[in-house]
Amino acid sequence: GGAPAPTLASIPKPQQIKSFLDEQVVGQDAAKKVMSVAVYNHYKRLAWKGDGQGETDQTATRLHKSNILLIGPTGCGKTLLAQTLAEMLDVPFAVADATTLTEAGYVGEDVENILLRLLQKADMDVDLAQRGIIYIDEIDKIARKSENPSITRDVSGEGVQQALLKMLEGTVANVPPQGGRKHPYQDCIQIDTSQILFICGGAFVGLDEVVQKRMGRNAIGFMPGENRGRSRNNRDLQASQVLRHLEPDDLVKYGLIPEFIGRMPVSAVLEPLDESTLQSILTDPRDALVKQFRTLLSMDNVQLQFDADAIQAIAKEAHRRKTGARALRGIVEELMLDLMYDLPSQSEVKEFTVTKAMVEQHTGGKVLPLPG
Ligand code: ADP
Repeated sequence: GGAPAPTLASIPKPQQIKSFLDEQVVGQDAAKKVMSVAVYNHYKRLAWKGDGQGETDQTATRLHKSNILLIGPTGCGKTLLAQTLAEMLDVPFAVADATTLTEAGYVGEDVENILLRLLQKADMDVDLAQRGIIYIDEIDKIARKSENPSITRDVSGEGVQQALLKMLEGTVANVPPQGGRKHPYQDCIQIDTSQILFICGGAFVGLDEVVQKRMGRNAIGFMPGENRGRSRNNRDLQASQVLRHLEPDDLVKYGLIPEFIGRMPVSAVLEPLDESTLQSILTDPRDALVKQFRTLLSMDNVQLQFDADAIQAIAKEAHRRKTGARALRGIVEELMLDLMYDLPSQSEVKEFTVTKAMVEQHTGGKVLPLPG
């Protein structure tokens, strides 16, 4: 089974890819653009069969794979972007956490298990899995801890980068279908990773300071020390500005090995989300939280409204919690709990409006007053 390999005509154009992303991911324009082009090129590469003028596979130009590195604070949409791309392309999608991985032979998860997860998402269809997208989170956490690689072999960092290299570049991996350790009595499934698109993401806390140090004080206008005493949100914003000047060498200084960086030729820096972006995230995307709860309550025949300043207050509180858009769901869930508990038994209630006062009262730790 599985979908046929893409033909050039069937590949969505970068602008189409970006508009699809726009429907579900708010802001992050620069990252969306970079990713749209990278994905377009990735699928062009899969469709490339030589130049049709007698080139054989051996002599044809080899188009290199463009795995993507996403750098940005937690909860700013890295996973969502990767997942939305997979949805647009209708390919299987799996998420892995780099911190759970170890090099073969050590306690922890083998890198092959990532491929098993993708295979499972593809209902064990190998062809389909081989065209999927894998998002590897917390990639910054496998940075080498010491600047001098020769001192000790760093199992938790460099070793994992080494283990991931082949997979990112393209190899035929032996995947144990039951997961866990490779076992001599277990038949492995072979998966060719050369067409799998890998997107790696991480917050890379402190990377801006590496860039800053390389460029010197005057190049950007402030030094890391000047951040002291500033709010963390301000610092995040400043960091993302400094990171516009990122070069591969900065990532080496940060602790990624050059070969590993080389396997991710495309990178994008994502912005921290400000209050007004958080407001849009609540209301605008296709599956926006406000829309979701409105739909839920409409099934109890209740029309749910949010006052504009209530939306503002939720965004403000989320911003204060410093986990990007991640905090929004928690706040809205807390806010709606009593309501969702009581309303289904109160058939006389036909509409309900969430006000700023309710949000403030609630985020201040008090319970939400109920109508009637
Ligand atoms: P991370 O950058 O840590 O990978 P996620 O993509 O997992 O963050 O986002 C966490 C939550 O916040 C998800 O529910 C996601 O839908 C939402 N979210 C984060 N950023 C955005 C954004 N830019 N637009 C819309 N939703 C977002």
